[in-house]
Amino acid sequence: MAMLIDGKKISSQIKDEIKAEVLTLKEKGEEVTLAVVLVGEDPASQVYVRNKKRACEYVGIKSLSFELPAETTQEELLLLVEKLNHDPAVNGILVQLPLPSHIDEDAVIKAIDPNKDVDGFHPMSVGALSIGQKGYVSCTPAGIIELMKRSGIEMDGKHCVIVGRSNIVGKPMAMLMLRENATVTVTHSHTKNLKEITKQADILIVAIGRAKFITADYVKDQAVVIDVGMDHDENGKLCGDVDFDSVQKVAGAITPVPGGVGPMTIAMLMKNCLTSLELK
Ligand code: NAP
Repeated sequence: MAMLIDGKKISSQIKDEIKAEVLTLKEKGEEVTLAVVLVGEDPASQVYVRNKKRACEYVGIKSLSFELPAETTQEELLLLVEKLNHDPAVNGILVQLPLPSHIDEDAVIKAIDPNKDVDGFHPMSVGALSIGQKGYVSCTPAGIIELMKRSGIEMDGKHCVIVGRSNIVGKPMAMLMLRENATVTVTHSHTKNLKEITKQADILIVAIGRAKFITADYVKDQAVVIDVGMDHDENGKLCGDVDFDSVQKVAGAITPVPGGVGPMTIAMLMKNCLTSLELK
């Protein structure tokens, strides 16, 4: 049976470390402030924003909340971002995605000051990551690296296969695994013979958004399996992209859903808020 990689426990440890750091900063008179912007009333986004604000409260980071109606125009949103860019009291800016369809997400991401881009989605952050320079790293892939490091999983020289090539998970994940000296293969929906490729992985990272897609026959014996997916099964229950029940019998280590990658994302957002002080 595979070792369970406990994201809940590891993320709690990270948040406690951040809490201690924030306290030390406060004693020196420095406060960390995150501005959280939500446009519209998407229920999933409301839950994510609430969880981010709760995490801020726990670690002692001040959060400023901007909840705008769904009819907010792109110009109005860009004006708010500009105002936050110029506010010296704001260290990080997070605009919750997805935005309503009349707003160009790329334009909003590009408008955020790269020094306050705690989500790591700005082209400057993405560029810095790909050439190995200091900068913000997208929270989910950064959290996966931290999960593996703190679980004692060796990445150097391993063959890592990533399923999915999105800008927020698959692509930055590939860059981070290269940084850890893994040999990286990125696959996607046009990949031929996916199973043959995933079966070669020492580390298999799956981010496709398809419930229980990866079954045991996609996995090499004793591989490390990281499941990024947040999907719902036929009964409406939260599950991942990996069929946990069958894969745990083959894998050497595996992340559960929930309680694996998910909690790490918010912990890394808190960590990025501290990075903002270094980049200031
Ligand atoms: P996305 O933007 O929809 O990208 C999905 C990727 O998977 C695309 O690159 C797509 O290929 C690929 N793909 C789809 N079907 C495939 C198949 N049958 N075989 C191989 N590749 C396939 O998704 P995302 O934003 O990366 O999110 C992926 C999953 O992770 C979702 O369940 C999401 O909810 C979850 N997620 C979780 C967290 C967290 O904090 N735990 C954070 C972010 C995302 P093409 O490029 O060819 O279309």
